[in-house]
Amino acid sequence: MIRVGINGYGTIGKRIADAVRAQPDMEVCGVGKVRPDYVAVNADEAGYPLYVIDGEYADQFREAAIDVAGTVDELVAESDVVIDATPAGIGAENRPLYERHDTPALFQGGEDATVAEVSFNSRANFEEAADADYARVVSCNTTGLSRLVAPLSETVGIEKVRATLVRRGGDPDQTSRGPINDVLPDPVSIPSHHGPDVQTVFPELAVETIGLTVPTTMMHVHAVNVTLESEPDDEAEIRDLLAAEDRIVLVPGYAGIDGTGALKDMALDAGRPRGDIWENAVWEESITLSGRDLYCLQAIHQESDVVPENVDAVRALTGHLSADESRALTNEVLGIGFERFQTRRGTAVDRTAAD
Ligand code: NAD
Repeated sequence: MIRVGINGYGTIGKRIADAVRAQPDMEVCGVGKVRPDYVAVNADEAGYPLYVIDGEYADQFREAAIDVAGTVDELVAESDVVIDATPAGIGAENRPLYERHDTPALFQGGEDATVAEVSFNSRANFEEAADADYARVVSCNTTGLSRLVAPLSETVGIEKVRATLVRRGGDPDQTSRGPINDVLPDPVSIPSHHGPDVQTVFPELAVETIGLTVPTTMMHVHAVNVTLESEPDDEAEIRDLLAAEDRIVLVPGYAGIDGTGALKDMALDAGRPRGDIWENAVWEESITLSGRDLYCLQAIHQESDVVPENVDAVRALTGHLSADESRALTNEVLGIGFERFQTRRGTAVDRTAAD
């Protein structure tokens, strides 16, 4: 069993903790938390040992009748691998702590790429993390773009990617984020920083991105144009290529999923924990070819698409399983794939005719 400590138990950290705990080859030694808020109460209820980041707050935890297992320093000492899911920028400050204990660590996409030797995406470069002590699991947007780019670059080849990222203003618990009633060019300068971040995974890729931020907490939506190196036979070739990807779901036209609200509703109805959508959701009808130019629209659930990537990254760092083995196990345990769409593809019975 790989003992995993999770330092920072917020939007990403709490999801990672649940995903790690579900794996047959991993256990959660504990989670690092700053304050005894509702998230800490739920962590306690879920049975995660809580380690305080700052001893000053330990008494407040006790006053709230939340047991404190120790300090984050102790959590790091007990862990085989630490997953740092603290707010952007804090992870880099924490790296000396992990080095002091000689504990391999994963950082998140809010950190600068220089925080670790490798910027990790399980589909694209699992093996590159094999000899690393530190890796950065790239951001939700970069994960989403990497999953799309990988199969296209391996088969038809990519001349250039252009993507407009329509980003959610904040996560559901982030009351201070916005805009409330606006559409922001964000950043206003073009290209945005997202393209260079994708290049931390695909150094040779020509990619340019534009960012906007809109008043929703649901998901990001990417409008993507890929100029391919060769012209596919037809759109079906691209659809089949993407449908074969384990962490891409093609949203069929008949499903009536006309936006991110319906996607989230679908996920909640399907009983997904927290309504999470770990896969890229590519609208099947948006896949369009014009010569060598491919267009599509995909939705990315910012709170959860990096979660299976973190699970795989633990195995990559420890050299415990191969990329294919790890991905298959993670997918199976978490229930990734939205099978209900895949199994219905082309198998529907015409009941009107039968009756
Ligand atoms: P968050 O604010 O929801 O959670 C961070 C947690 O870390 C909180 O529990 C906070 O109390 C705790 N924390 C605060 N200061 C700390 C410290 N000094 N040491 C340890 N813990 C501390 O943040 P998040 O949205 O989960 O983001 C975490 C990381 O994941 C960031 O790098 C972010 O960029 C990245 N990320 C976020 C999203 C997203 O949409 N939320 C998506 C992908 C990647």
